[in-house]
Amino acid sequence: MSLNHKKSLKVFAVSGLSAVTLLAGLMQSSAKAAVPHSELGNYQVIQSDCQVTGTSDLVRAYRSFELDHEKRILVVDTQTFQSRLMDPRLLECSDEFSVAIAQSPYGRALNTTDSAPFPMADDGIQHSQKPVDGVFLTADLCPAGAHKFEQRFFDALEHLAIDRHQPIPVSLAVTGLWLKGHEAHFQEIRNLEKKGLIQVTWINHTHSHPYRVGVPESRNFVLTPGIHPEAEIQGPEMELLKRGEVPSVFFRFPGLISNETWIRRLKSHSLIPVGSDAWLAKGQKPQSGSIILVHANGNEPEGIDRFLHWLPKSSALGSFLPLTDLF
Ligand SMILES: [Zn+2]
Repeated sequence: MSLNHKKSLKVFAVSGLSAVTLLAGLMQSSAKAAVPHSELGNYQVIQSDCQVTGTSDLVRAYRSFELDHEKRILVVDTQTFQSRLMDPRLLECSDEFSVAIAQSPYGRALNTTDSAPFPMADDGIQHSQKPVDGVFLTADLCPAGAHKFEQRFFDALEHLAIDRHQPIPVSLAVTGLWLKGHEAHFQEIRNLEKKGLIQVTWINHTHSHPYRVGVPESRNFVLTPGIHPEAEIQGPEMELLKRGEVPSVFFRFPGLISNETWIRRLKSHSLIPVGSDAWLAKGQKPQSGSIILVHANGNEPEGIDRFLHWLPKSSALGSFLPLTDLF
C-alpha cells in the first residue's frame, strides 16, 4: 500500500494558520487520546518507512486500520521509540528513508534483537543497552481469575508517585484476554494514569497467552503447536486501540519462551522482544539498568511481596525509567 500524500500541506494552507502550528495540533490530536472507539476495522500489518510531513521526523509505520471509519496508521518514532496514531495524510513514505531508519536507535534495536543464538528462554532485551541511572519496571497482566488483581502493587506506585512528585513509569505486558475480562481493573490503571501517578507503556503479551501445565517448554507457550501467530500478535493491539490506548513496539513472550521463528516474526511485525534479568519471584535481584519482572495479575504474589520489600531501598538504583530509555 502507498502512504504517499504529498498534497497534505494544502490542507493547512486554507485555514490561515501556519502549517507548522496546524501540524503540531493535528499530531497532538492524533496522539494518545484515551477515549473508547466504537469501531476498529480493516486491521493490517504494514512496514513502511516514512517522514512526518513538514518535519524531519522519521517514523516506521507498522499497522494500518480504520478507527471510527477514519483511516489511521500506527507509527513509532525511530529516535524516541514512542508510538502514536497518525492520519496517513501527514506521512510521506518512501524507500529513500530506509537507510536512515535502519541506522536510527529504533532500527538498530530491531536488528540487535534478531541475532543468534536464539535461546529458548529469555531471548530479546533483558537489560538496558546503555548506562542508565535507574531500572525498568515491567508487570505482566496474563489471563487471571476475574477478581484477581494486585491492588497493593498499584497502591505502592501511587504512594511512590506522591512521595516523588512525579508519575512512576511502569510497563504493563497485557494480553487481549486480560483486557476483555478485567474492564474495571483496566479503568483503575487508566485513572491512575489520568491523575498523573503512573506513566504506562503497553507491552504486547499475546492475545491468549497459551500455556498448558506440565507440557515441556519446547511445546508450550507460543511454541504450542497449532496456535495462530497473527491472532496472538494482533489481538492485544486491537483491544488496546479499541479502548483508546496506544500499543508500544515492545513485546513480551509468555513465560519468556520463544524460538528463532518467533524472534524473526516479531521483527517482521516491527516489534522488539523484552525479557528480564530481574524476575523477582525467581529470586533474581535488580541491578542498575535491570528490567524487573513482576506479575500484577495476582498469579504470582511472591514477586509482589519481594517488590514491596525492595521498593523502600529502590532509589539506590536511581529512578524507574520508561522502556523507551533502554537504547
Ligand atoms: Zn505472562
